[in-house]
Amino acid sequence: MNFERNIDKYAELTVKVGVNIQPGQTLLVRSPIECAPFVRKVLVHAYNCGAKNVHVEWSDEQCTLLKYLNAPEETFNEFPKWTAEQYVDIAKEGGAFLTVYAQDPDLLKNVDPQRVANFQKASAIALKEWRSYTLSDKCKWSIVSIPTESWSTKVFPNVSSKEAVDQLWDAIFKCSRVEGQDPIKAWENHNNDLKLRMNFLNEKNFKTLKFKSSKTNITMELPEGHIWLSGASEDPTGVSFNPNIPTEEVFTMPHKFKVDGIVYSTKPLVYGGNVIDNFSLTFKDGKIIEFTAEEGYETLGKLIGTDEGSHYLGEVALVPFKSPISDTNIVFFNTLYDENASCHFALGAAYKTCIKNGDDIKDGEMDKHGVNESLTHVDFMIGSRDMNIVGETYDGNEIQIFKDGNWAF
Ligand code: ZN
Ligand code: ZN
Repeated sequence: MNFERNIDKYAELTVKVGVNIQPGQTLLVRSPIECAPFVRKVLVHAYNCGAKNVHVEWSDEQCTLLKYLNAPEETFNEFPKWTAEQYVDIAKEGGAFLTVYAQDPDLLKNVDPQRVANFQKASAIALKEWRSYTLSDKCKWSIVSIPTESWSTKVFPNVSSKEAVDQLWDAIFKCSRVEGQDPIKAWENHNNDLKLRMNFLNEKNFKTLKFKSSKTNITMELPEGHIWLSGASEDPTGVSFNPNIPTEEVFTMPHKFKVDGIVYSTKPLVYGGNVIDNFSLTFKDGKIIEFTAEEGYETLGKLIGTDEGSHYLGEVALVPFKSPISDTNIVFFNTLYDENASCHFALGAAYKTCIKNGDDIKDGEMDKHGVNESLTHVDFMIGSRDMNIVGETYDGNEIQIFKDGNWAF
């Protein structure tokens, strides 16, 4: 009974706080077929909020895997144009997008990494126009995660698959603030808390950030006019939405060419159906000049090699070591959850919303402003309990931002 009620509250939260559906709006839901019971509840809540039409695009991981194992080579060099056009159409009409992200972290372990890389690139190129809407909040979008058997058993390998799914549901309800009486109110409060940190960072207008832990040692400059963001975003009509549920991060963009030093990953990164773990990246003038990985070295190389911009950073996000997600002590093998339990950087494109008048910067002038462009944007986790972050202001003041993994103010 309680479980059913929590799922319903979670679906309502997704519709009202995640994509915040308004009367007359279209919603496109992309989801694994296993998550259908949740998506059906989302659909009902969306119509109750006045949605005009809810489309669902189902996927099946087994079909995905069988395709990778059986289709001819050239299949992976193209992405269906009609799918990309459909997304752009919905975005142009002011529709919203919900992604139910629930990947088997090891799905493509036995697939030729070149096939996976080719398809990642082909889809990134095909979806570039659509992503320009989400990267600049020109349409409402949100990501949530739902336990599937394959994902849950990766997270909890020592219990039965049913027990694993139950445990993952528990963790998700907890981290997404679904369990209390009024999750929607809880999210209003949470968004306000994040805003306080965000406002502090924006007021200080730091020139430089220095990250130091027992292993990581990196210095980055922030571009002039950078903006820290957090929690809720706003679409062009001023309607708020939460791109990620859960979210704990306050983030901006580093200057593309002013990142120097070495950074170590602190959680596994799942990319393209493969796990990359215990890796390091060395930066000079913003560019990766060396990388190592104990697991998934080849996959990491393919990710960095996507294009020129994937050799540079596009995001820096601060997340305290003590937060509802990291307090669970679970490695989720799911970036939505792991990135919100840890300070992280992203390889690839910067969000144009993270710099003043970002939308007016022309394509050829991004470098001049220090804004990174790329086909990809992949977060990776670098936070740890011994992470210290110091900010330097334009007048040379040093202010401690993180002390021993947590906010210092
Ligand atoms: Zn982030
Ligand atoms: Zn990101």
